[in-house]
Amino acid sequence: MRELLDKLYETNALTKEEIIEVLRHLDEGENKKLLFDYAHRTRLAHYGPRVFMRGLVEFSNYCKQDCMYCGIRASNRNADRYRLTPEEILECCKEGYELDYRTFVLQSGEDYWYTEERLMEILHLIKSTYPDVAVTLSIGERSRATYEKLYAAGADRFLLRHETASRELYESLHPKMSFDNRMECLRILKEIGYQVGAGFMVGLPGQTLEHLAEDLDFLHRFQPDMIGIGPFIPHNDTPLKGSKGGRVEATLVMVAMARLLVPKANLPATTAMGSLDPQGRERAIKAGANVVMPNLSPTSVREKYALYENKICTGDEAAHCRNCIEMRIKVSGFDVDMGRGDSLNWTEPSVG
Ligand code: SAM
Repeated sequence: MRELLDKLYETNALTKEEIIEVLRHLDEGENKKLLFDYAHRTRLAHYGPRVFMRGLVEFSNYCKQDCMYCGIRASNRNADRYRLTPEEILECCKEGYELDYRTFVLQSGEDYWYTEERLMEILHLIKSTYPDVAVTLSIGERSRATYEKLYAAGADRFLLRHETASRELYESLHPKMSFDNRMECLRILKEIGYQVGAGFMVGLPGQTLEHLAEDLDFLHRFQPDMIGIGPFIPHNDTPLKGSKGGRVEATLVMVAMARLLVPKANLPATTAMGSLDPQGRERAIKAGANVVMPNLSPTSVREKYALYENKICTGDEAAHCRNCIEMRIKVSGFDVDMGRGDSLNWTEPSVG
């Protein structure tokens, strides 16, 4: 087992079978401590002690999809729906820019009210006002033509978690969605030139250790520029209410494994981690994460973007979130970096 961890640290590669072997034996002896230590050292080697800050704007909670786990799924009649106008989105970015953010992440449900044209208008507004920022889109599945136009209009990055790399598990959680299309979207986004983010949830009902190994193996083969990993947290207005949900400890292991298998990826300490454990984001940073995404959405809509129960920071002003996170990063022994923070996987890709 020690040999496998050493191999992972030295080569940043393991087969799926070897990944399974590692995951099976982590609870024994010092193995987990060593894994976190290797992940931390790998992060230091590539990004130093810096933590990139991204300003998150949750601009719509309308969604045409019906993901079984998600609080803003189309069938949830209790969700109080909202949409921000292009001007309101720009206003969030203005506030963020004044707080020194240089990356904005625009996230929403799959909401086609935001047509290609509207999205291009939003990108033009942001990019012409703030030419030095990077914009990340997280808006779900669209056509290749739309992805191409949004890239040409100034979108730099795209987050589209694969959610789970197991076709069977994916199909059980995403009625009417296609596993192949999700994977194809990721490939297309990479081909176009976006910095691409994949990722998955930990603790989904029916998810086994082998499924998680499949996720890690997929990440290793796909080599995304960004990786979002968070615990699944049940929402009471979804069919998965009452399920157990993911655990922080298991998610930390996945973060550390992802850091070692895709060493140059930007890896956020997710809000879901902070929602399950008050120290969750700090623990993720110590296990290899190097990004945080404080919220810039207007406080009037924050609670409405409820993907899961007990989401943190829903009442806090943008400036408060910025200061709170900065303090947490510094106390943990890391440095805040307010730059664009492009992924090293994108700026200096490794071969193979
Ligand atoms: N619609 C876009 C998409 O499909 O990529 C982006 C928005 S979606 C709500 C953002 C992410 O939230 C999903 O990729 C999923 O992993 C996560 N999420 C949704 N419900 C969750 C839950 N109950 N617990 C934890 N994470 C959840």
